[in-house]
Amino acid sequence: MTFRITCPVCGSRDVYEFTYGGHERGPRPAQEGLSAEEHFRWAQFRTTRAEAQEEWWYHGAGCGVWFSMWRNPATNREERPEPVDARGTGPTTEGDGE
Ligand SMILES: [Zn+2]
Repeated sequence: MTFRITCPVCGSRDVYEFTYGGHERGPRPAQEGLSAEEHFRWAQFRTTRAEAQEEWWYHGAGCGVWFSMWRNPATNREERPEPVDARGTGPTTEGDGE
């Protein structure tokens, strides 16, 4: 199966030009008080969901840049989740005037 990925430098290219770097896991946990097992779980365990997730990709056959993008692994399409306002009620409509 093939699909296309949009490199921020080169544009849309075949996925075979890229190396998958895993999904975004947030900041590295603080080392102080972190057990070896907790560090292992953070570093090694990954959960792939059938919904849009932020992922890291490396364009090894192109510009050599690491970048993150949003992709739905169920459809292999680049897609970003809908923005949710602070109340969790959906996209905000503020900012378009008074
Ligand atoms: Zn590139």
